[in-house]
Amino acid sequence: MNAEILAVGSEMLTPDKVDTNSLYLTQHLNTLGIEVVAKAVIGDDRARLTDAIRDSWAHSQLVILTGGLGPTEDDVTRDAAAAALSLGMSENATAWDAILARFEKFGRTPTVNNRRQTLILDGAVMLPNPNGTAPGQWLARDDRVLVLLPGPPRELKPMVQAEILPRLAAMLPPLVIRTRWYRVALMGESDLDQLIAPVYSKYTNPATTILAAAGDIDIHLRARCETPEEAEALLAEVGDPIAALIGDKIYSTNGDAMEVVVGKLLREKGRTVAVAESLTGGMIGQQITSIPGSSDYFKGGFLTYTDEMKTQLLGVPEGTSAVSEEAALAMARGALVRTGADYALSATGYADSDQAGLVYIGLATREHVHARRLKLSGDRHRVRTLAVLNALDWLRRALLS
Ligand code: ATP
Ligand code: MG
Repeated sequence: MNAEILAVGSEMLTPDKVDTNSLYLTQHLNTLGIEVVAKAVIGDDRARLTDAIRDSWAHSQLVILTGGLGPTEDDVTRDAAAAALSLGMSENATAWDAILARFEKFGRTPTVNNRRQTLILDGAVMLPNPNGTAPGQWLARDDRVLVLLPGPPRELKPMVQAEILPRLAAMLPPLVIRTRWYRVALMGESDLDQLIAPVYSKYTNPATTILAAAGDIDIHLRARCETPEEAEALLAEVGDPIAALIGDKIYSTNGDAMEVVVGKLLREKGRTVAVAESLTGGMIGQQITSIPGSSDYFKGGFLTYTDEMKTQLLGVPEGTSAVSEEAALAMARGALVRTGADYALSATGYADSDQAGLVYIGLATREHVHARRLKLSGDRHRVRTLAVLNALDWLRRALLS
């Protein structure tokens, strides 16, 4: 089933107001396997809206309008829908009773204008609106459906849940949805896409979406089929080759964030970790401790910003350059020795200045201590975020090997 959405309201043609209803609708329609093939924002103009409805109705099986169901002259959705489909309208007594009850509750009296809101298209079902005055409408004709919904999101959303989705689900063949996640660390978005697009772009089912944040990419596969077996088979057909191409840069296949993955590994192996942070100002410790129960494996950390503190608290030899391999090594070693942890991570570097992005991270274990030089790009926030991700991913790999 294909759908079109028409968001009615001149205010959404200004720079101040965004049409969010169509996003909400699209998300829920997609879950049912309904694809939105077109959408538009139309001002409060009866003639133009009539044309738009006629056009959508000719092309798509499902047409959803939102907004413009208010009581005033400039609320034109009802009239335009009636004109587009050449239908009459009549007042609905139940809708009027609901309006009376609502006004009474707030100690007000409805105006004659409110009667317009009870006009229901011939053949349509009136959809009650417990959160406002304008009822919705559901009109099914020759295998096609026209839906009118109120504009305010707090009225539309409950109506979509209670009245629209169940009706649509009943019209559709049974549908099973199965998903797969891959979370990938420290790969450029375009590199990743170049690598895997040849696999996924051949398929519309499963649908593949790629979401990228600094150094952190989510790949989401969504298969829609009539049986679970078919859905799983499709996911394997597309997902397995993708996973093989990316390899161990995939850190999670269930949506877990990096700090969750690292936490689970530490717990599983009965190991502990400590941190020594300069550049990242506590962000590594913050990430690790954002997980409930992290006290089982997080020993603590040192936030050493000056050379003096690095020396005093971590035993970094005096005269060591603050941003250097030696500093990262000594910081990690110092944190390990002083906390008795099994692993210690360190980070030092420049987040701005002409050396911005030059970062050293360290990893100490009982046996070894290593440091890595990173050249990270982006603003201060991005450099620090990437340093944290690099450090945690390093620990993840150490725990796996
Ligand atoms: P009412 O009876 O409240 O007038 P209505 O169905 O006529 O309802 P509109 O007047 O079109 O709805 O919109 C009411 C408010 O709902 C708008 O001011 C706006 O804040 C919000 N709204 C309308 N359409 C949308 C949309 N597509 N996305 C997000 N918000 C919307
Ligand atoms: Mg209105």
